[in-house]
Amino acid sequence: MVLTLTTTYEGIDQERLDWYLKRLRSTRESGFMNCRKCKKSLEPHEAYEYRGAISCAEHFEEVEETRNHERREIIAAESRKTDVFRGLDLGESVVGKANRKLLAPQIEIASKESARLRAYK
Ligand SMILES: [Zn+2]
Repeated sequence: MVLTLTTTYEGIDQERLDWYLKRLRSTRESGFMNCRKCKKSLEPHEAYEYRGAISCAEHFEEVEETRNHERREIIAAESRKTDVFRGLDLGESVVGKANRKLLAPQIEIASKESARLRAYK
């Protein structure tokens, strides 16, 4: 993608412009800087972000709510995965070691999921 700025963005601070251009460059998806709700193509001064979701000024609250909903879903899914381990001995005892060995694949998945959640936050 070649970026050319042909417009003078008056009233926009350099920091915001840098943020916009960085977001634009960091993705190969077309339409990245479109409002998630109405799909309108956004200029730097029109783009808002909430936890990685882009919106126009008009739809900021809706996009924010959608994003929070997604986040709650992910957290709930995370919690269901780790529920398996609740109350289990996963310590250094003989039983704990045996449990960890048996549950190694699930523990692996749970730690990967947590990394995903961390990235999302
Ligand atoms: Zn919109």
